[in-house]
Amino acid sequence: MLNLDKSAAAFAEAKNFMPGGVNSPVRSYMSVGGTPPFIARGKGSKIFDIDDNEYIDYVGSWGPLVLGHAHEKVTVAVIDAALKGASYGAPTEIETALAKLVQKIYPSMEMMRMVNSGTEATMSALRVARGFTGRDKIIKFIGCYHGHSDSLLVNAGSGAATFGEPSSPGVTRGTAADTIALPYNDIAALEETLEKHGKEIAAVIIEPVAGNMGLVLPKQGYLRKIRELTANCGALLIFDEVMCGFRASLGGAQAAYGIKPDLTCLGKILGGGLPCAAYGGRRDIMENVSPSGKIYQAGTLSGNPIAMAAGLATLKELAAEDKEEDLSRSLTLRTKELVLGLKGAAKNAGVAVQVHQAGSMFGVFFAEEEVWNFEDASRADQNKFKAWFFAMLGEGIYLAPSQFETLFMSAAHTDADIEKTVNAAKIGFAAAAKV
Ligand SMILES: *Cc1c(COP(=O)(O)O)cnc(C)c1O
Repeated sequence: MLNLDKSAAAFAEAKNFMPGGVNSPVRSYMSVGGTPPFIARGKGSKIFDIDDNEYIDYVGSWGPLVLGHAHEKVTVAVIDAALKGASYGAPTEIETALAKLVQKIYPSMEMMRMVNSGTEATMSALRVARGFTGRDKIIKFIGCYHGHSDSLLVNAGSGAATFGEPSSPGVTRGTAADTIALPYNDIAALEETLEKHGKEIAAVIIEPVAGNMGLVLPKQGYLRKIRELTANCGALLIFDEVMCGFRASLGGAQAAYGIKPDLTCLGKILGGGLPCAAYGGRRDIMENVSPSGKIYQAGTLSGNPIAMAAGLATLKELAAEDKEEDLSRSLTLRTKELVLGLKGAAKNAGVAVQVHQAGSMFGVFFAEEEVWNFEDASRADQNKFKAWFFAMLGEGIYLAPSQFETLFMSAAHTDADIEKTVNAAKIGFAAAAKV
C-alpha cells in the first residue's frame, strides 16, 4: 500500500489557500477521489513525491516534458539564461532563434507570436481570425479543449448542431452564442452548419489529434475535408496543436496528415516545461497583428528569455539532425511497444479496452466499442478506470487521474521502464476485471 501521509497533510494545508488545494483542477484527483501525491522532484522518466515514493511518469507535466524531467541540456540552458536576468521586456535574439526553428518545423507558421500559455495562444488566434475576416462566429468541436478563455468554454448538447451554451458559470450567454459546438469526426454536421452559417464563421478551431477527451484520432479524410470546407466559405482553419505539436509527429498533426491550416497554436513542449506558447500562420493574416496591424495582442512576459532558452534547448534536441535516429521517430516506436504490451495485458485479463496512439501520445479507454468522439468516450467505464488507476499508482506508475486525458512517452523512458509498466498493467487490468 502506498504511503501518502505527508501528501495528505500537504493537501489539507493547500486547501486552505487554493480552491481544491490546486492551481489547475485536474491535479486535485477530484475525478477519482483520494490524495494526489505532492511532488518533490523529478529526474528523467521518474518523479518522487514528498513521502519518498518513486513513480514512472506518463503525465510529463501534461505533455511538455518530452525529454523527461531535469534534462541536462534544458536545465543548463535555463540556468545560463537566469544568470543573465529573468526578463527585460525588450527584444532579444533568442526569440527570433526559437521562431526560426519553429518555422522550419512548421512551415505553415510564416509569422508567429510567442505568448505564455496555450489558453493565450488560442484566444489570440481567434481574435486574429475575427479581426481578419470581419466575422464573429466560430466553430469548435465537442470534447476538444482549447484552454479556458470565454469563447472556448462552450459546449452544445451532444450531437446537435446548435449554438452553444456556456459550460462554465461566468461565461456570458452573449459570448457563448458566437460559438457553435459540433461533434468530432462528423463531417456531415460541419457541412450542414457551414451551408447555413458559412458566411458568418470567422474560424473553425480543432485539435487535429484530440487529446482532451482521452486520445481520439481523426478519421481518414476528416481533416482534409475540413480544410476544403473552410476554404470554400472563407472561414480560417485553426489547428490547435498545443498538445499534439511535436508529438503526433515532429511537425505535428499537420505534417502527419499533410494539411496546411491558416493558423496554428503551439504550447506545452514549445516551452520545455516553462510557460510558453505561440500562435502563427499565414503572413497576410499575421501582419494584421499590432503593431504592424490593428489587431491588438500583447504580453509583459511574452518571449521571456528563460522560457525561450528552455524551449530552444528542447526543440534543438528533438529536431537534431546530427542524430543517427530522429528522436520523435524513436519515441513513436517506444510508445508502440508500450501500447502493444498494454493491449496484451488487457486481453489476458479479459478487460475490453480501446488503446490509442499518435506518435508519443497514447491513451486507454475502458470501452468495448470504438471511440471516435466525446459521446463514445463518455460511455467508457469509470469504475474500471478507477480500479486500474489506483492499482497502477500503487505499482509506481503515475498516470493521469482520468481516462479523458492523454498519456505521454518521453525520451527518458527506458526499455526497463516499459517492461515494468507492462508488468504493472497486468496487475492493473486484473484489478479492473474484478469491478
Ligand atoms: C493544454 C491545452 C491548451 C491550453 O494550454 P494552457 O497552457 O494550459 O493554457 C489548449 N489547447 C490544447 C489542445 C491543450 O492541450
